[in-house]
Amino acid sequence: MTATFGSALEGKVAIVTGANTGLGQAFARDMAAAGALVACVGRSSMDETLAAIDAPDRTLAIEADLSSLEPIDRIVSEVLAWAGRIDILVNNAGIIRRADALDFTETDWDDVMQVNLKSLFFLSQAVARVMVPEGRGKIVNIASLLSFQGGIRIPSYTASKSGVAGLTRLLACEWASKGINVNAVAPGYVRTNNTKALQEDPERNRAIVERIPAGRWAEASDISGAVLFLASSAADYVHGITLPVDGGWLAR
Ligand code: NAP
Repeated sequence: MTATFGSALEGKVAIVTGANTGLGQAFARDMAAAGALVACVGRSSMDETLAAIDAPDRTLAIEADLSSLEPIDRIVSEVLAWAGRIDILVNNAGIIRRADALDFTETDWDDVMQVNLKSLFFLSQAVARVMVPEGRGKIVNIASLLSFQGGIRIPSYTASKSGVAGLTRLLACEWASKGINVNAVAPGYVRTNNTKALQEDPERNRAIVERIPAGRWAEASDISGAVLFLASSAADYVHGITLPVDGGWLAR
């Protein structure tokens, strides 16, 4: 299902990281449907996403592995060479590693913090250096329920997503006066690769669905509306929030 948002992003130039699959693919598709030109950034083939959008003149695939800062400046320069401007950045790429806190390894800590937090910050910085002189721009970070809750067996994920909510507030405080909106969306439990282990564990799956007031997992398209709202002029006076889209999970 595609979320519809009219032509709210007509003529805007958006970057979506981790756009080859899951939530990022839905965001790229739905932003394109709302009129945006979309630069799809990721380390895997973008073919499926580009086919879903089916508008070769309005999409650009950028190959980039965000497990280091090496591609950051190139992403910005490729988008500028292609479209001449950047209006929207959706920091979506993210990973998770599961193990008991007692056994958690330094590699599982560093890998997650690098993609989920460090690359998110430095890509935001690089894009903001383009947005600030223009006096406008929207940055939407993808946070998590673990921006609000502790969780279990995912220490680096919880630390990184709590950090995303904090950084969202800090960047909003620094850049709101410069015309840039920095906000985040915190998806609940969404059917993607990220949650495969939970979906496939019958006990965890049942416990999760029972606790969600809406009574079901989210599909990626359930999350797009909030991202498109925060990327649009409808959110011009919204700064520093982390908006849960969780079927009521946090209300419980
Ligand atoms: P996903 O299907 O696993 O997608 C994650 C995306 O991030 C993929 O495109 C992945 O690329 C990309 N990525 C990972 N490491 C990367 C790297 N080093 N360089 C570039 N791209 C990289 O999971 P998802 O659920 O759509 O997750 C998207 C975001 O939503 C993540 O930030 C996640 O934490 C967040 N989130 C998800 C849920 C949920 O329930 N699914 C809930 C809350 C928050 P590859 O395909 O190449 O690995």
